[in-house]
Amino acid sequence: MSITVTAEQFLARSIRLATANVLNSGGPFGAMIVTADGKTFDGVNRVTADNDPTAHAEVTAIRTACRELGTFDLSGSVLYTSCEPCPMCLASALWARVDRVVFAAGRHDAAAVGFDDAVFYEFFENQDRDALLPVSQLVLEDPSAPAPLEPFTTWNTLESRIDY
Ligand SMILES: [Zn+2]
Repeated sequence: MSITVTAEQFLARSIRLATANVLNSGGPFGAMIVTADGKTFDGVNRVTADNDPTAHAEVTAIRTACRELGTFDLSGSVLYTSCEPCPMCLASALWARVDRVVFAAGRHDAAAVGFDDAVFYEFFENQDRDALLPVSQLVLEDPSAPAPLEPFTTWNTLESRIDY
């Protein structure tokens, strides 16, 4: 029970990071690495801010965690992300050896606001992928938690956003 609440709190923080990032010249995505002993590392999307197409929130969280921990192996860690990871981020999580990935909004939610990686997924769809890396959507039960779609609604109302 407490594990579920903690997972919800990390996921809620990822959503809040995503929304805050929209208001800081970034894309509507946030993520966190949480190590087995409870260390946390944030990541946000900086694709257009840094002209870096690989600067997805999940990748920046992995980069920060690895740099600060002095390792390239995040075994035992969980990656929480405000939106279902794209194939690049899933591959990055695999390379980083994280134990599992938990996301809030789904890929179809992202596609609805113009972030459609369905064509990328077609390369990688695999019925057995959960055997290699469990990836699951978690519904936030805490009424004080932010809505998973909040980063997107904030993004949609931001006139200065740079679509990509
Ligand atoms: Zn990605």
